[in-house]
Amino acid sequence: MNQKTYHIEVWGCQMNVADAAAMARRLESLGYVESPDPASADLVLLETCCVREKPEHKIYSRLGELRPFKEARPGMRIGVCGCMAQKEGQTIIRKAPCVDLVIGPRRLFRLPELLAELEYTGNAQVDVVDDEAPLEVTEQDFELYRRQGALQAFVNIIEGCNYRCSYCIVPFVRGKFTSREPAAVANEVRRLVEVGIKEVNLLGQSVLAYGRDEGRTFDIVNLFELLHEIDGLERIRFTTNHPLEVSDRIIEAVKTMPKVMEHFHMPIQAGDDRLLKAMKRGYTVERYENLLHELRERIPGISITGDCIVGFPGETDEMFENSLETYTRLQFDQQFMFVYSARPGTPAATMPDQLSQEVKVARMIKLVELQNVISTARNESQLGTIFEVLVDGPSHRDATKYAGRARNNKALVFTVTHPPQRGAIVHVIAESAHLWGFSGSMVE
Ligand code: SAM
Ligand code: SF4
Repeated sequence: MNQKTYHIEVWGCQMNVADAAAMARRLESLGYVESPDPASADLVLLETCCVREKPEHKIYSRLGELRPFKEARPGMRIGVCGCMAQKEGQTIIRKAPCVDLVIGPRRLFRLPELLAELEYTGNAQVDVVDDEAPLEVTEQDFELYRRQGALQAFVNIIEGCNYRCSYCIVPFVRGKFTSREPAAVANEVRRLVEVGIKEVNLLGQSVLAYGRDEGRTFDIVNLFELLHEIDGLERIRFTTNHPLEVSDRIIEAVKTMPKVMEHFHMPIQAGDDRLLKAMKRGYTVERYENLLHELRERIPGISITGDCIVGFPGETDEMFENSLETYTRLQFDQQFMFVYSARPGTPAATMPDQLSQEVKVARMIKLVELQNVISTARNESQLGTIFEVLVDGPSHRDATKYAGRARNNKALVFTVTHPPQRGAIVHVIAESAHLWGFSGSMVE
């Protein structure tokens, strides 16, 4: 009998990448094999994002492209998972009847059951209940990590968000903060290390808020301490960081714990106080700037990256220029830059002075140009630095070289005199700087 095949397409953030990987592992444990070709796959899953409108449109047009494949092979199944599934629910099936499965982010663990139900009844399945704890990893997951020889794993530690940034739909689709028990996270990481994982990236919309949900008495530093004890675990990363959650205790932990990496992904969102207020971010530019300087002073070698939005309602030329000045002063190592997109149901969507797409795009182009100059300059200022690098293996860019990441998450491609093992920690001197990181050579 032919093996069933699956194909997953992912939009959005790292949490979606992690969820897509968890679904892939579940499907493989059911005997499915991955296919690069959606036209011939038995099951196509779209792991979706609804943070901006454009990806949402793209998903409907992607479903339109998939429909003919299904018409040609009626046994094919199509599923929509992730945040847009949560937000739209049954509507997706009304708008795109080719869809057989709609699964919310907190219900992914039901994928095998929903597939069985679909086959048994022939009816489309929708499950978007949002009150469950985050997905737990199964024994099959660990086995698949081993077979894939993976070095890094994402570990969800806190779901949802209690902030109410005026532009953001996440709290509506992912619910309130729900932290996993520290012992459950530590057990998972221990098992991950046993199957070869060296680096974990602890994930949450506001990961430093870990443990702050009702009745909990632990925090992210307690979790760092617990994970730090795990022999064989080399690196702990954590993302995303809300500036209001960064405490002295956290800074001290990152500074002193050798396994906790010196990288903060800490979105600023705007560089003008009037915009920050309208966004309901809860801090001023000055407060953010002081925090950034404190981080750079106290944690040597740290890199600081962020997210920002252009074209928020009411953003004048002057406010935009103010933001550019702020970003020039702050010198982020990198920023993910987003064009504002009105999300129905969020306060910003009904604010006056929504900007035209032309203005938003023109500002975005200016911002990207500026950030590219800043990122390259920051890397140039670190030429000659010797970085501690976790070796990923031969480089995809140039097979004669090796690739890996520094503690501060900068990418390095480097020449070697003798080939290092995948997963080894080596030292590399940065010899030329690029937008994305460095080229260099391994030093003994
Ligand atoms: N929880 C994270 C935080 O607050 O830092 C970010 C979560 S969100 C999935 C990722 C990024 O998408 C945000 O930091 C923001 O820059 C951007 N974003 C969110 N809503 C947006 C919107 N309506 N339009 C454009 N960008 C948006
Ligand atoms: Fe959205 Fe703000 Fe929560 Fe981030 S902190 S997920 S931007 S509401």
